[in-house]
Amino acid sequence: MKSLTRQKRFEEVKRMSDGLDRVFIIGCGTCATMAKTGGVEEVGAMKARLQEAGKLVTGAVVIPTACDEMTAVLLEENKKAVEDARCIIVMACALGVQQVNLYLSKPVLPALDTLFIGMEKSPGYFFEACDQCGQCILGETAGICPLTACHKGLLNGPCGGTDKGKCEVDPEKDCAFTLIYERLREQGRLDLMRRYHPPRNHQVLPRPREVRIS
Ligand code: SF4
Ligand code: SF4
Repeated sequence: MKSLTRQKRFEEVKRMSDGLDRVFIIGCGTCATMAKTGGVEEVGAMKARLQEAGKLVTGAVVIPTACDEMTAVLLEENKKAVEDARCIIVMACALGVQQVNLYLSKPVLPALDTLFIGMEKSPGYFFEACDQCGQCILGETAGICPLTACHKGLLNGPCGGTDKGKCEVDPEKDCAFTLIYERLREQGRLDLMRRYHPPRNHQVLPRPREVRIS
């Protein structure tokens, strides 16, 4: 299970850091290294591009796991370079960005877009399996998540655009509800296709969500 990311276009990184001429760069040694978006090589390339663009890079570090408390340790170890910077560019997923943001008051800018938490199907091939909706209905959809398997994230059956079992948005893909139907049929549980899933109750799930483990 990994947090999958994609690099933002460099122009966007440049725009975010407009007027902030000294930068410190942070990469992540776990998911972003695996995704080749924020490891040693990518941090080095970002450093070179920022310098070419006229920025002064006060330092760069790849934190073993940017989303945990090691971040505080590494920021302390690089205190002078971090203090000298006017902003921090983080090449980690949004969790890493928010972790860094916990410790600093200066601008913390994401250089990556966080796409999804992915499961590895075969080496190097990840797919989105769960949107962490907090109201799981897998027990009624034959273990197939309609929120992630359907392009429109529908919960109550197909949109009407299904064509010969394929999705109208991407004809290369099976319609999520074809998959759910077939699997429920195999299980002899087709009655579940008629089960109505009410709209998400946002009142029972205020954001940000919290879990306290005692
Ligand atoms: S319904 Fe889908 S998105 Fe929601 S928790 Fe279950 S698997 Fe995750
Ligand atoms: S065709 Fe199926 S998978 Fe595609 S958007 Fe419609 S319901 Fe969702």
